[in-house]
Amino acid sequence: VLVRVDPFDPEPAAIAAAAELLRGGGLVAFPTETVYGLGANALDEAAVRRIFAAKGRPAYNPLIAHLPDAAAARALVADWPEAAARLAAAFWPGPLTLVLRKTTAVPALLTAGLDTVAVRVPAHPVARALLRAAAVPVAAPSANPFTRLSPTTAAHVAAGLGDRVDMILDGGATPLGIESTVVALTGDGPRLLRPGALGAAEVEAVLGRPLAGAGPAAAAAEARPAPGMLDRHYAPRAELRLFGDSPRTPAPDAATPRLDRAGAVALLRAAAAAGRATGALLRTPLDAPVHHPIPLPDEPAGYGRLLYAALHSLDDAGCDLVLVELPPPDPAWSAVRDRLARAAHPASGG
Ligand code: AMP
Ligand code: MG
Repeated sequence: VLVRVDPFDPEPAAIAAAAELLRGGGLVAFPTETVYGLGANALDEAAVRRIFAAKGRPAYNPLIAHLPDAAAARALVADWPEAAARLAAAFWPGPLTLVLRKTTAVPALLTAGLDTVAVRVPAHPVARALLRAAAVPVAAPSANPFTRLSPTTAAHVAAGLGDRVDMILDGGATPLGIESTVVALTGDGPRLLRPGALGAAEVEAVLGRPLAGAGPAAAAAEARPAPGMLDRHYAPRAELRLFGDSPRTPAPDAATPRLDRAGAVALLRAAAAAGRATGALLRTPLDAPVHHPIPLPDEPAGYGRLLYAALHSLDDAGCDLVLVELPPPDPAWSAVRDRLARAAHPASGG
């Protein structure tokens, strides 16, 4: 069932019905400020198992627990270091996920057997109202089939998961459009596990020290300490190829090939000649035949907000091949470049 709610001030009856479903072990998709989440009671093993089943997500891929406030997050973790307190005060509610040592109350299924748990306090008014009403931690990965594009609208959720979810709260398009930044506070120093909607530089400014795993050197080394940081992910149905003008826009990683501009034009001409439907995500004009060109803002926040919706629309238009103009390797673009690299990664059983 799809239930429309006011994104700024959701109707209490709809929130109460969704919260009741969550407490009863059901699945509720809801908007967060990043993307739509597929929610279930994080402390109910059977409910969490339904998330993995609905998404086709492998059990080695841990989920993020969503909480109404930092106090509720603290109840799930064994220790709450000074760095966690500072980051929570600065960025919660918001698009930052913290990985901390878990308590025994947290089911192993949620954390893929790890002794750590990922926690986040989202900022979206619908998510906040739902979490308060449910009064249980809510596991909520993105509400899409495993490895597919993340949903930024309720229509994306309905198209991807359909009746595998008990209720979809439709609060319109999600404002940030790209997943949360994941920071681990479990080892010697803070580590960036996934670039996301919150810039690494902002996190570093609050911590007063650099994040391990951040920066171009680490990105090039392709360290993937988090289970679930799969190479191919966030992928459209169409074949997706990246292009850019070297050396300003190197490939995001060694495994993902990148064309130069002339190569992109040649590929598009050949595809059009072969009768393939083509699309492109562009920051600058491209002199080539493209059936569905989509201009995107040449600025990371605006680009991130529109990226998944643009890729969904190219899939819906039946594109066989999509060319994407890579943004520069500037830290401000790192979340977008990460998602593009995963979307374009050659399928390899991942
Ligand atoms: P998703 O819910 O699909 O947005 O993905 C959750 C992200 O959080 C993945 O990148 C996971 O690898 C990461 N994550 C969740 N729990 C943990 C954990 N305990 N340790 C490290 N990474 C985690
Ligand atoms: Mg996801």
